[in-house]
Amino acid sequence: MDKDYNMVLTGIGGQGVVLASDILAMAALEEGPENRVRTSQIKGMSQRSASVIVHLRFGPTVDSPLVAKGSADALLSLELAEGLRYMDYLYEGSIAIINNDINIPPVSLQGQKVDVDPSLCYGCGNCLAYCQVNYYFKGNNDLLVLNNPASSVISGKCVVQESCTGCGQCFSACPRSAIELLEKTVYPELDQITNTLKRITNNVFVVSATDLAKELGNTKVVNILLLGILLGTKKVPLSIRTVESCITRLVPTNLLDINLKAFQVGIKKGQEISAKNS
Ligand code: SF4
Ligand code: SF4
Repeated sequence: MDKDYNMVLTGIGGQGVVLASDILAMAALEEGPENRVRTSQIKGMSQRSASVIVHLRFGPTVDSPLVAKGSADALLSLELAEGLRYMDYLYEGSIAIINNDINIPPVSLQGQKVDVDPSLCYGCGNCLAYCQVNYYFKGNNDLLVLNNPASSVISGKCVVQESCTGCGQCFSACPRSAIELLEKTVYPELDQITNTLKRITNNVFVVSATDLAKELGNTKVVNILLLGILLGTKKVPLSIRTVESCITRLVPTNLLDINLKAFQVGIKKGQEISAKNS
């Protein structure tokens, strides 16, 4: 390949985001010995099943593992609102494949915003690094788009803003357990999510991957099914055969058959999407 490729994969802990990115990273290495491949994973607290984002870059001139905002050629999201959370990685030429599954992390499942106990907070700022708010609801359910974290350190103490979505990411980062739960938050509607993403790129495809995985008998294969969808659209410069070979090596043997089936179902779906939109 003659151009670097940037990708962001996201979802909730336990959905297999990291495995999906490992498969693509291995495939990128195999396809071009000249390819540099870099990945970076930011995981929420796994026992709380919080948000997970993986950056994947490959190509002839890649150095940094981090995808710059506004430069992801593809966004693959295993969970609906997680696709929205990371929308600022998109640009007008991106493709976004978003699973319509609603899988709210347990912390935000409680529908909480958070606040900080100032007697415990010592202003280290760790939580800010995890806080990524690209949208929030105000008043009459208006979805506002932002690019700022929902918290900041003021006079040595963390202060949470109105825009906190209760995602729970900051819980994992606080060494003092200073972050506490507050009032209810709202999960965005499907239309709000797609319309917001389509302000950036027309190539936004919300798919029922979890339903397709259910039909195969195991929702755990949704990550591989989504990989198939992405590959089927031909928007990733990797061959289906190489990716399939990497699935064969990275997926546990006892789950291989169903994962390969899921990959094929995904490819067919991706090809349909591609045919409809060409
Ligand atoms: S719970 Fe609120 S403050 Fe904490 S990371 Fe999420 S949006 Fe930011
Ligand atoms: S991580 Fe905890 S201690 Fe550090 S600034 Fe945030 S709330 Fe305060």
